[in-house]
Amino acid sequence: MMKPSLLGNSKAALKKSMDYHLRCSLCKEPVSKEGRDLFLATAFSLRDRMAEKILQTERRYRETKTKRVYYLSLEFLIGRLMGNTLHNLGMFDSYKGLLTDAGFDIEEVREQETDPGLGNGGLGRLAACFLDSMATLDIAGFGYGIHYEYGLFKQEIDNGYQREKPDNWLAELNPWEIKRTDEKCIIPIHGRIEHFQDRAGEYNPMWLDWKVIMGIPFDIPVVGYGGKTVNWLRLYGAGSSADFDIQIFNEGDYFRAVEQKVSSETITKMLYPLDTLKSGRELRLVQEYFLVACALRDIIRRYLRDHENFDRFPERVAIQMNDTHPSLAVAELMRLFVDEYALPWDHAWEITRETLAYTNHTVLAEALEKWPVGLLEKVIPRHLQIIYEINRRFLDKVAPLYPGDIDLIRRISLIEEGETKQVRMAHLALVGSHSVNGVSALHTEILKNENFSDFYALRPEQFVNITNGITQRRWLLEANPRLAGLISDTIGDAWITDLRQLRRLEPMADQKAFKDAFHDIKRANKEILAGIISDTVWLSVDPDSLFDVHVKRIHEYKRQLLKIMQIVHEYLQIIRDEKKPVIAKTHIFAGKAAPGYWIAKQMIKLIHNVGQVINQDKRIGDALKVVFLPDYRVSLAEKIIPATDLSEQISMAGREASGTGNMKFMLNGALTVGTLDGANVEMLEEVGEENIFIFGLKAKEIAEMVKQKRYRPLDYYHRFPEIRRVLDAFRDDTFCAAERGLFQWIYHRVMNNEDPYFHLPDFMQYIEAHDKIEAEFQAPATWTQKAILNVARCGKFSSDRAIADYNRLIWNKNGLKEK
Ligand SMILES: *Cc1c(COP(=O)(O)O)cnc(C)c1O
Repeated sequence: MMKPSLLGNSKAALKKSMDYHLRCSLCKEPVSKEGRDLFLATAFSLRDRMAEKILQTERRYRETKTKRVYYLSLEFLIGRLMGNTLHNLGMFDSYKGLLTDAGFDIEEVREQETDPGLGNGGLGRLAACFLDSMATLDIAGFGYGIHYEYGLFKQEIDNGYQREKPDNWLAELNPWEIKRTDEKCIIPIHGRIEHFQDRAGEYNPMWLDWKVIMGIPFDIPVVGYGGKTVNWLRLYGAGSSADFDIQIFNEGDYFRAVEQKVSSETITKMLYPLDTLKSGRELRLVQEYFLVACALRDIIRRYLRDHENFDRFPERVAIQMNDTHPSLAVAELMRLFVDEYALPWDHAWEITRETLAYTNHTVLAEALEKWPVGLLEKVIPRHLQIIYEINRRFLDKVAPLYPGDIDLIRRISLIEEGETKQVRMAHLALVGSHSVNGVSALHTEILKNENFSDFYALRPEQFVNITNGITQRRWLLEANPRLAGLISDTIGDAWITDLRQLRRLEPMADQKAFKDAFHDIKRANKEILAGIISDTVWLSVDPDSLFDVHVKRIHEYKRQLLKIMQIVHEYLQIIRDEKKPVIAKTHIFAGKAAPGYWIAKQMIKLIHNVGQVINQDKRIGDALKVVFLPDYRVSLAEKIIPATDLSEQISMAGREASGTGNMKFMLNGALTVGTLDGANVEMLEEVGEENIFIFGLKAKEIAEMVKQKRYRPLDYYHRFPEIRRVLDAFRDDTFCAAERGLFQWIYHRVMNNEDPYFHLPDFMQYIEAHDKIEAEFQAPATWTQKAILNVARCGKFSSDRAIADYNRLIWNKNGLKEK
């Protein structure tokens, strides 16, 4: 037993606890001057405090029979945890003082922490923001994910080309996680089905000859702001089962036994680096099944501690599926109920549907998951059978409503016929849940009217919109301490748990003293980022220039190309038209490309080359700089965003489901230039059109043009010299003198009627928007005023609001008391 004083919160107790961990956990002298040691000692001492609170929180939930929410996600992009934990426990200043006494700057110690990359981008980061909000709102909400041995690859840039390096994040000790081998579980996989009948002559299939994988949980505490509630994120790693291998060992085949062990462990080796692109790899399917199977066993185990049967399951448990990746939960929950707990099908189905809910994250056709029937048969034959049965019953119900409409049946079926028969995972999720939500108002409308219109006609009440949000604890309090301080000094600190309070800053937008302070903070943050740029890419940039930032995954629909075209246009204006630059600009990019996505990787090379040419051109001087910062990740985002003047959110309208980067920038006082896409639409509503730069075609207009085949790139090329000049620069090797012809494909991709992302129709409006931006940036007082209004009016975009919406509209729909 640890002495109680080790868990106290006095300065002496904290010091004692740090010394204890230096000595006893790390076996170091308490005088260690290694930053990493100090980080670990701090983390361990925080973990002790949270462990105690996890137990208290759990006791409270059980005593009050609180409904539990389980958030299933293949990705949790949690970022570093030390800063967030210190703030939420209210101990930032105490530890800062202790570290200062020990001769350390807390910022340096925080830099020692590994940034876990257990997600690709927005979807995984959303899951992490939601955990923070659930704990803060005192909701019994828990995450289930995968303990990947390798997170998303690390990005290095070599002569402008992306190189992927493995992210072996567990090579360093991870002080936050608690491995719980005692709660491991056994998951069946592979094997075959025997078609038996039971004693009453009923069909009773048996799943035989399966192999097993072991799921080993690692728990990471999730502390809510104020420290009252500590939930957890449970990540499963795959291992092999000793029990099962014994068979092979007994047969004397030691090598085969070890091979089997190695192949089991492979399952959670790595995160697939695909953001909104299909993977179609068998191992990915196994990962999806593995997560769902481990999570559901654990959820049921917890439920059965306090219940004798499953009648109250939907009343006590809500399960949210983050995209279709965990949609096998529908089949696995049915299998557990029917096969393992012998529930009648109809009853099992009712409970399953009442418990599960599905969040859709994308309308991109190439990202809607489908799995070949043959693959499911090989990996999880019993689940395939169950999916067929769900489909048969579903279609039997729908067919009489639309007599003779074979085409409708073909469209809504869970099975897509064709050369390779496939299971449509989104349809499985839709049919098996009581709720489906889009992640912005526009996105939900597109789901209702386009992608899932047949399902919407059948069950309109199933569709809900919940606009995404971000946690202000990480994205303002932690990432931008200066601005957070100014705000708290001005309106108090209630915004930390109620972001709508920021409205009270509105009157400050006219006050000189506040504006000056706000401007100085932005300037200071830009100076820090300029230091990082200089340290990482050896480029000196002017902190007084406009920091114009496009950071996110590289994808054609996000249109990094449109941004580069705009930069090239600016460049050509200066060198060919002899336009005098009115302000200096620093164009900052960052983002990873999926390793197999050639166009995205070329974009990185293009940014790099355009940068090389512009940054070295004497005629340009300091007027224009182009920077690509490698290895975009949460900890880098936390440094870029507070230093941004202009946030680029320029996806082709109708393609970005919501975006959350856009919200982080708004919260940190950047102005947005963007299309009417995703949550940008709602940002415009909140902030007012004078305070945001909106341009480009609307989603409906693009849909019309596509339908009528009205878009002809050549017309734009001939009509607008500006467009012609930029595209010709890609054709004539202006940016690839050393690699002739390298960028010619861009000209062809955009011109040959192929441009599916409508770069040209938006281009002229986009450069006009930039002319306006340039003019406005010359008047800092007005710019700052608008920036302040952006902060004041971003309250809607807190993940606290999003989680309160989920809680009200989805998780507590069954007439349960609301918290
Ligand atoms: C917020 C965030 C994203 C999502 O950005 P979008 O602009 O919404 O695509 C991606 N990666 C990281 C590291 C983030 O923090």
